[in-house]
Amino acid sequence: ATPTALMVGTGRAAKLGVLIKNGEALEAVNGIKTVVFDKTGTITVGKPQVTDVVGAKDTLAVAAALEDASEHPLALAIVQKAREAGLPVEPVTDFNNVAGEGVTARLAGQVIRVGSARLMAGLAYPAELQARERALQDEAKTVVLVARGDAVIGLLAIQDVPKPSSKHAIEELKARGLKTVMLTGDNQRVAQAIGDQVGIDQVIAGVLPNEKADHVRALEQGGPVAFVGDGINDAPALTSATVGIAMGSGTDVAIESGSIVLVQNDLNGVVRALDMSQKTFNRIK
Ligand code: ADP
Ligand code: MG
Repeated sequence: ATPTALMVGTGRAAKLGVLIKNGEALEAVNGIKTVVFDKTGTITVGKPQVTDVVGAKDTLAVAAALEDASEHPLALAIVQKAREAGLPVEPVTDFNNVAGEGVTARLAGQVIRVGSARLMAGLAYPAELQARERALQDEAKTVVLVARGDAVIGLLAIQDVPKPSSKHAIEELKARGLKTVMLTGDNQRVAQAIGDQVGIDQVIAGVLPNEKADHVRALEQGGPVAFVGDGINDAPALTSATVGIAMGSGTDVAIESGSIVLVQNDLNGVVRALDMSQKTFNRIK
């Protein structure tokens, strides 16, 4: 394409809310074979809400005490729920953030853990709570476990729904012959349930933050990959992918790492980028 065609293409894309930082990015989109999506905040709205509290009656209060020190979207949902319930947020000591798993701290002298099953390895975990965990996960809810000392005492179910536009955009990408993949740190059952709701081809779950870029590189064995994400965790994957696409609502580091930014924060922007790239590079030789 001529420099003029590139300017026309990026200019038209910008009018549609698709900011393309350079001509190489516009060209690279044309050859994409696979589109990989982060889940939270990319496919889903990213405003999780606590829907269920199960187990010991201080489960919510204990969880909120620890999560008050975290900025994770799940933590914000838990603290908000505790406030709504009028619960006091008790101070903790020895706070520790375990990336991709949860948080730990001391509360009234006891060790508390709040997070995924991975964080609870080696602890007693009553079968009844385990059964509730699986049932809630199959409803596409993320389950946060709460342990005091050496036993799991309760759990919280947190729901984050797909953006209304996600399903249609994924259908459009599939209709153009692209493979769609979800890459998330969340549990397999929850990820699969959300993936089914939006019709994604493949779900890769339980991925630790530092592993996302490795998965993108592995998928690149099958051809050029676009990675679409919004979080701090997504920055390495955004730079590793053939094309990194950031949500405009994302963190600063995600927006800096992407070569394309979607102002409207929905996945239709990926379809628009693809169509604009095809128009620019197929029409003008
Ligand atoms: P994602 O890839 O969906 O953005 P993360 O890598 O941030 O997910 O987190 C993966 C999983 O780790 C979460 O689904 C949750 O189970 C657990 N987790 C992480 N941080 C927290 C926290 N502050 N409180 C509770 N659970 C957490
Ligand atoms: Mg995210």
